[in-house]
Amino acid sequence: MATLPMMQDEIPAADPRPAAGITGRFPPGPRSVWASVPDSQWNDWHWQQRERITRVDQLEKVIRLTDDERQAAVETEKDFHMGITPYYAALMDPDDPRCPVRLQSVPTMGETIVAAADLEDPLGEDRDMPVPGITHRYPDRVLFYVTHNCPVYCRHCTRKRKVADPSSAAARKQVEDGLDYIALHPEIRDVVISGGDPLSLSDDRLDHILGRLRAIPHVEIFRLGTRNLVTLPQRVTDDFVHMLRRHQPVYVNTHFNHPKECTAEAFEAARRLADAGCSLGNQMVLLKGVNDDPRTVMELNHKLLLMRIRPYYIYQCDLAKGISHFRTTVEAGRRIIRSLRGFTSGLAVPHFVVDAPDGGGKIPVNPDYVIRHEGKKWVFRNFQGKDYTYFEP
Ligand SMILES: *Cc1c(COP(=O)(O)O)cnc(C)c1O
Ligand code: SF4
Repeated sequence: MATLPMMQDEIPAADPRPAAGITGRFPPGPRSVWASVPDSQWNDWHWQQRERITRVDQLEKVIRLTDDERQAAVETEKDFHMGITPYYAALMDPDDPRCPVRLQSVPTMGETIVAAADLEDPLGEDRDMPVPGITHRYPDRVLFYVTHNCPVYCRHCTRKRKVADPSSAAARKQVEDGLDYIALHPEIRDVVISGGDPLSLSDDRLDHILGRLRAIPHVEIFRLGTRNLVTLPQRVTDDFVHMLRRHQPVYVNTHFNHPKECTAEAFEAARRLADAGCSLGNQMVLLKGVNDDPRTVMELNHKLLLMRIRPYYIYQCDLAKGISHFRTTVEAGRRIIRSLRGFTSGLAVPHFVVDAPDGGGKIPVNPDYVIRHEGKKWVFRNFQGKDYTYFEP
């Protein structure tokens, strides 16, 4: 008698590697002042966390600070800490204060300006909060905050009011209350796990949270919202993705803002997640001087697709306090979409949205492709600016 074939759900011993021609476009991040640090430490995320730059005297050893940056590092300290992993700091141009990585992580005096339109809670997240740690705004999905820590504190962060403030850290009890809320609400089929950065938690802690969510029959999917692929890609270890495999389907939404962030390390983190079966999306924030130009976004989105990350959203910079120096016009975002649609793969064209103040939610803002509409006659304009008429039956 023939023996039964082996079960085929084993994880293959070796994941297939992408072609060298593809990985060759993703250079390893530089090491800067950490050139003599052994690989074993550099690639250890605990080391990267421990060695974070939090003070101006540490930062000064890595980049040539401007007077504005030096003053801002001191003056913004009480409102929003500085925190930069060695990996992300090494990506900064030591001489150019307009470097996109630097603009996103080094404080500037622009943060001390409070514009008339600024809001403490720009998206009304605390208002739509049935229990602490859950924002329930849309009918079938919730935002679930599980930590308030991040490896790098982004200067444009929308949750400045909470992030980096240890007194607001989501306590275990709060996470358990959040899980109970989700379990009690059968309409919730999608949970966006956010923070802070959920990957700041240990694998065991995340395993527990994901396990609890998977045990709730009405929860179909969850998404991890994380910037670790950008700021601490070493966090995506084999053990971590092995843990995620047990909770599939898992969606991961990341936050790349500039092609410079697409390094070999980031590529490897995305590869591990994708090979573990995760579906990856990117949420870019439109930031003045960082990525408010169509060519930069085109290059970023092409790199993301090579990393198997689908560009999902471009956000108009919101009205969080002290980030007015990052805001562009709304038209800048529409111009970017106009320069992508038709000119490149549809896969590289995300949705441009304004997350409306006061809890209005995400509102898509598209270029105008409908020119006229009279009765059954529609006049559309294509990407090249040519008009076409369509008649409804
Ligand atoms: C962004 C957001 C979501 C998820 O929105 P999608 O459009 O489904 O990605 C859910 N809840 C809140 C409060 C949000 O801000
Ligand atoms: S990773 Fe996200 S939550 Fe953390 S500081 Fe950056 S934008 Fe804010």
